[in-house]
Amino acid sequence: MGLIVQKFGGTSVGSIDRILNVAECVKEEIERGNQVVVVVSAMGKTTDQLVNMAKELSTQPNKREMDMLLTTGEQVTISLLSIALNEKGLEAVSYTGWQAGIVTEPIHGNARIAKINTEAIKEQLQLGKIVVVAGFQGVTDTGEITTLGRGGSDTTAVALAAALKADKCDIYTDVTGVFTTDPRYVKTARKLLSVSYDEMLELANLGAGVLHPRAVEFAKNYHVRLEVRSSMEKISGTVIEEEATMEQNLVVRGIAFENEITKVTVLGLTNSLTSLSTIFTTLAQNHINVDIIIQNTTESGTANLSFSIQTDDWIETLNVLELNKGELGYEQLDAENKLAKVSIVGSGMISNPGVAAKMFAVLAENNIQVKMVSTSEIKVSAVVEEKNMHKAVEVLHEAFELSKVTN
Ligand code: ASP
Ligand code: MG
Repeated sequence: MGLIVQKFGGTSVGSIDRILNVAECVKEEIERGNQVVVVVSAMGKTTDQLVNMAKELSTQPNKREMDMLLTTGEQVTISLLSIALNEKGLEAVSYTGWQAGIVTEPIHGNARIAKINTEAIKEQLQLGKIVVVAGFQGVTDTGEITTLGRGGSDTTAVALAAALKADKCDIYTDVTGVFTTDPRYVKTARKLLSVSYDEMLELANLGAGVLHPRAVEFAKNYHVRLEVRSSMEKISGTVIEEEATMEQNLVVRGIAFENEITKVTVLGLTNSLTSLSTIFTTLAQNHINVDIIIQNTTESGTANLSFSIQTDDWIETLNVLELNKGELGYEQLDAENKLAKVSIVGSGMISNPGVAAKMFAVLAENNIQVKMVSTSEIKVSAVVEEKNMHKAVEVLHEAFELSKVTN
């Protein structure tokens, strides 16, 4: 007998019919002789609707109250699913995050899991019950309710799988797996049979919405066997593991993209030893996340600095920089909006030189200008104009032969 953690996302539990379908999926796992812990998201677009209601009342709703509000979404699903399972003759018990022993750091809206006290769940499993846990939520040491950040139910599932030493964690979603790129935009996108933890981590961080990045981090650190698969179609999905075994010959395995990126340029920095640290400390203190950073010194001894941020943070970033102009010591600020980041990812890059060169050549051939670049061992990201984003993805998908993936 094995222990399986199954996670079902918002679309998969989006209606009573869908919840019945999920109950059937859980039943099949039980009939295979396994113990099952189920993690669910809020139904359909519930979380968005709750956020919107709060925004109608306040432009900056209190974060503690937001957590109180948003965690209700998942509570609806756990109880309904348990009722559905009971109706199928299966014993199930629903648990909120705090009942399930999920303890987080004391931060509202985006808390990390600090530890999981698994006794309660284990006890119920011992009694032969299916435990249905609310995703996305936890509790602090002092009893405050927290959430793990949007999309965080994936992380609940993988963290539970790690803590319970489950044999497997299946993430059921509305797509059949992880694709070479988003099939909604590129018709020739193909499902991958396997992806390595590191590749998945890059893809998740670079905007492939299929998995919460922190869930992949957990899976990698605790060697959780993870599979992304469809809750509607009974076919195998994408396995995320140490070394991706299939399609080994692919240098690039996936292309991720994200829009709403802004490039900020700070011109004429006095270039003292501390100017870089002062700028980024100031931005960090204001919770502004900076992505790509480029600095170059001019002949006159000053420096120009460019960095990319999410467009959402654009006005605040300029305000913060202007407010601290005296201390930061620069001449001029510039910002370019309507940019996007297109990234190619693949472990094969480590041993294959010329991947970045090929990427830039392909973009140039298609008259797509590259504004900023960043690389890691297994990825190359290029910032391009938003209007060129889909084209860039398409031509790169073709050039790196991702449409030829077969499975
Ligand atoms: N319901 C939450 C969200 O929509 C968490 C999740 O679904 O993973 O972000
Ligand atoms: Mg999700």
